[in-house]
Amino acid sequence: MIVVVGAGIAGLSLAYEICRRSATVTVLESDTIASGASGVATSYLEPRLGNTAMRAIEREAMLRWPNYAEHLENISGLSVGFRREGQLEIALQDDLKKFHKDLKARAEQNEPFELLTPQSAQKLEPEISGNIASAAFLPNVRWVTGKKICQALAMAVENAGGQIKQGVAVTALEQTGGRVVLSTNDGSIIDVEKLVLCTGMGAATISGLPADIPQSRAVRGVNLIVDQSPLTSPLTHLIKHHRGNLCPRENSQLIVGTTYEAGETSLDPGPEIVEFLYQNAAPIVPKIRDLPLLKVTAGLRSKVGDGNLRLGRSAIAPQIYYSLSHGGAGFLRAPVIADELAEFVLDGKLGTLTRHHTHN
Ligand SMILES: Cc1cc2nc3c(=O)[nH]c(=O)nc-3n(C[C@H](O)[C@H](O)[C@H](O)COP(=O)(O)OP(=O)(O)OC[C@H]3O[C@@H](n4cnc5c(N)ncnc54)[C@H](O)[C@@H]3O)c2cc1C
Repeated sequence: MIVVVGAGIAGLSLAYEICRRSATVTVLESDTIASGASGVATSYLEPRLGNTAMRAIEREAMLRWPNYAEHLENISGLSVGFRREGQLEIALQDDLKKFHKDLKARAEQNEPFELLTPQSAQKLEPEISGNIASAAFLPNVRWVTGKKICQALAMAVENAGGQIKQGVAVTALEQTGGRVVLSTNDGSIIDVEKLVLCTGMGAATISGLPADIPQSRAVRGVNLIVDQSPLTSPLTHLIKHHRGNLCPRENSQLIVGTTYEAGETSLDPGPEIVEFLYQNAAPIVPKIRDLPLLKVTAGLRSKVGDGNLRLGRSAIAPQIYYSLSHGGAGFLRAPVIADELAEFVLDGKLGTLTRHHTHN
């Protein structure tokens, strides 16, 4: 039996790819599906710029996302909130230098965009401020609702014969005779053939891990969720500016994000963080403070070392694999990472795109 620990986007997308290849998989989750970072992610899908191996992963993932989202909706019968309206990049006067530098880099990488006057940006989104300095429309940016993607994946795993056990925390592991024996919080002892740690920030809660399993550090992200139905023209595009983003969701919800707080681990952010997010968003959408605040959400992006993705297999205990350090892009990259990691776990085959991030 293959056991995946963690029912976030990393664990569920991998478990589904394992099921699709007809292997038996069980996902163990200490809490509920998407209870970690995956449940609070803004989950926009936009590849970064540059000529790195990671950009190749992200570009390929972007190509796969439309079919991936459609497939998950078909197989689960659930909407995953896949949105194609594109992004408005907005600059205030102080941000102009950075804004033009960013557009120049986009042009060099053949990433499409259209430069807009403030007036034409306001035609697209009438609620944005008349005081913006410039704007650009990025037609290829997409987004999803992360929690719904996870719920659809969970259903897809179960429909394909896999098992998901919620409320089951792996507390310890032991390696004996080429196998791994897990202990869980409900007193079970589980003998597994292969184990994949997709634990986000949670690996440190498991005793007996081999020393070469990477340790994660946290970068907290806080979002406000407001009800944008009082607006005459609710936002329909993802809006990014140099201090944050605004992301429209189903049921008239609007996400106002986000913070990047290295080392902060509390999931109960104080009023100063809420004020910080309002202060950043108000110059872009002046009515933002008038909208009902529905919720403040917080999650921990997990990073290892330099922050790069870490996929791999323990050299000390080769039955133990890991998919860690997804940072701020676990959703974006999931269709590629899950596909290639499933091949690696089942057949030892290194992925074409992910091999530079796989420790073997
Ligand atoms: C505010 C915010 C905004 C973000 N925006 C975006 C975005 O726009 N686009 C994007 O692509 N990404 C975004 N991200 C990043 C994205 O959320 C993460 O990269 C992704 O969710 C990581 O997924 P994961 O499965 O590795 O971790 P998690 O979602 O944290 O899942 C790990 C799971 O493992 C479980 N677990 C841990 N330890 C154990 C144990 N011992 N036993 C059993 N279960 C265990 C946890 O309960 C948890 O459910 C954002 C993140 C935040 C916080």
